[in-house]
Amino acid sequence: MAKENKKPENKKPEIKKPEIKKPKFNSYWIYAAIILVFLGIQIFGGSSWSQPSKTTQTDFETFLRDGDVEKVEIINRKIAKVYLTKEARGKEIHSKNTGNSIFPSSSSDATYQFEFGDLQNFENSFNQIKEENNLSSIMVWETDSNMWGELLLTLLPFIVIIGIWIFIMRRMSSGAGGGAGSQIFNIGKSKAKLFDQNSDVKTSFKDVAGLEGAKEEVQEIVDFLKNPDKYTRLGGKIPKGAILIGLPGTGKTLLAKAVAGEAHVPFFSLSGSDFVEMFVGVGASRVRDLFKQAKEKSPSIIFIDEIDAVGRARGKVNFSGSNDERENTLNQLLTEMDGFGSNTNVIVLAATNRADILDKALMRAGRFDRQIYIDLPDVRERKDIFDVHLRPLKKNKKLNVEFLAKQTPGFSGADIANVCNEAALIAARKERKSVGKQDFLDAVDRIVGGLEKKNKIITPSEKRSIAFHEAGHATVSWMLEHAPPLIKVTIVPRGKSLGSAWYLPEERLILKPNQILDEICATLGGRAAEKVIFNEISTGALNDLEKITKQARAMVTIYGLNDKIGNLTYYDSTGESEYSFTKPYSEKTAELIDKEISKLIETQYQRAISILEKHKDKLTELANVLLEKEVIFKDNLLKIFGKRPFKEEKGREEEE
Ligand code: ADP
Ligand code: ZN
Repeated sequence: MAKENKKPENKKPEIKKPEIKKPKFNSYWIYAAIILVFLGIQIFGGSSWSQPSKTTQTDFETFLRDGDVEKVEIINRKIAKVYLTKEARGKEIHSKNTGNSIFPSSSSDATYQFEFGDLQNFENSFNQIKEENNLSSIMVWETDSNMWGELLLTLLPFIVIIGIWIFIMRRMSSGAGGGAGSQIFNIGKSKAKLFDQNSDVKTSFKDVAGLEGAKEEVQEIVDFLKNPDKYTRLGGKIPKGAILIGLPGTGKTLLAKAVAGEAHVPFFSLSGSDFVEMFVGVGASRVRDLFKQAKEKSPSIIFIDEIDAVGRARGKVNFSGSNDERENTLNQLLTEMDGFGSNTNVIVLAATNRADILDKALMRAGRFDRQIYIDLPDVRERKDIFDVHLRPLKKNKKLNVEFLAKQTPGFSGADIANVCNEAALIAARKERKSVGKQDFLDAVDRIVGGLEKKNKIITPSEKRSIAFHEAGHATVSWMLEHAPPLIKVTIVPRGKSLGSAWYLPEERLILKPNQILDEICATLGGRAAEKVIFNEISTGALNDLEKITKQARAMVTIYGLNDKIGNLTYYDSTGESEYSFTKPYSEKTAELIDKEISKLIETQYQRAISILEKHKDKLTELANVLLEKEVIFKDNLLKIFGKRPFKEEKGREEEE
């Protein structure tokens, strides 16, 4: 089973370097060493190797009377250390205390020690015995301080404080990167993971199923990286960045990795949130470090996942001030992207599923000037993705992959990878020899159950209504002369919309009223189809309604295209009127405007309905094809409707 399959959805397959178990340098060793040193000092502390033997005051007095004692050392007014004379050391009674023949203790070592009670009494009795016996023994006083012990005591609080501090710092800075070592010194370093020639898992386009359009676009980037000279020779500049936009799990990371794999260049991967830390300036410094590293390894690719974490539009309304750090990071990122020349061959790929909230400055030419949309896969693509993830499984020979693809509308690539893995686990639990159809269906059920809350899972009846809605757009726009030419209709959900009809982007500079009206009519075609087929309308047309309401209002109040309102505009190019609370027209005009707008829209709605009533059979046919294929192109429309019932405008035909 493939490693990747074990991961739950949305998780990136972590490419791990083969772990060679060598004793890693670990900061705990330092602590251990320090503790050992202190222990050693304590045990062998300073003075001598052989500790004096214990004795008592009475015994000592006997030794003293015998004249064996050369010197008594009073330490800290508590302990007496007894030094014997040379001759005495040879005596039998002392010999077992003066070391053995291998380690004879020198005369500079005390032989005995004992604690006396009261210093005054001890001194008196010592002097008395000394006088009585006429001895030359001497008594000295010494304050013995254990230097190391005291040093330790004074330093201990600091050591504890520093220890706690290091601990906290590690905790704070080990968010995603983790890893051992002295993180505290690395806080400004980028946390990018590097995949290069040395990492053993290679991703190539082969591993990315579907995503044809996106692959084509990134293929260009691969070419740039492989032979930059070919492109710069004629003075062109290599693009600096591309942004991959798509829902989670659609394979953005996978695609970026494949680009690096195909181009054989190092790949720095990190998430936008890795830049953000609670310290000021850290994000910017990490960005700087990241680009420095990438340049050193150039040509290379930097992949920033979830760039919206730093790239969100810089605050217009920023009361809290808490976004400053993020803005600094973003500014640094922009500066770096502007800063490196086109000859550095570092390409930045970024991924997000919220392109709408990104700062416009990011999308400016010379930064992320290429945007690559990645949709949820359609049936055909889902089959390809299944094929990729079924490769490592032991599957039943009769397994019908197309059937699986049909059972999983709205699933992302990551969901499908997850289905395959679940199915294998379920089959294993049931102790089957191979993974069969039922296991996959169970896996789909389980995953749908888990996904329902967070993802859009489409029920069959919803799918039907979406298909008719989109077919409605397609039919109406096909039948209207001035509606923009259609290229593709899908019922694959994407972002907030459940399906979409794609037209060639509007490039006409001047619009005639007919053209706007046809466009409005086509946009209303979706809702009209729901009305015609199911005789009930739904909330699915929100985007459409928003768009046409704006268009209609613009026709009336901005472009002066309405008879009743006449040749005037309420548009103010200076933008000053935005700040005034009064409308530039009277209440009566306001009423008139509202009435005209709704009349205009209602007329187009009725027009769409009558077109659809007339072509109801074709609409149904189209919807059924859509239900089956999930995506249809102009060719399919041609087959169903025949040629458009009028001559297409010349200019437009060329665009197609
Ligand atoms: P994203 O970055 O868009 O959130 P990933 O690239 O991390 O998604 O994809 C997660 C996993 O889903 C991948 O590791 C892969 O196993 C699977 N996957 C997603 N899309 C595809 C695809 N088009 N082909 C094959 N596998 C895919
Ligand atoms: Zn619509």
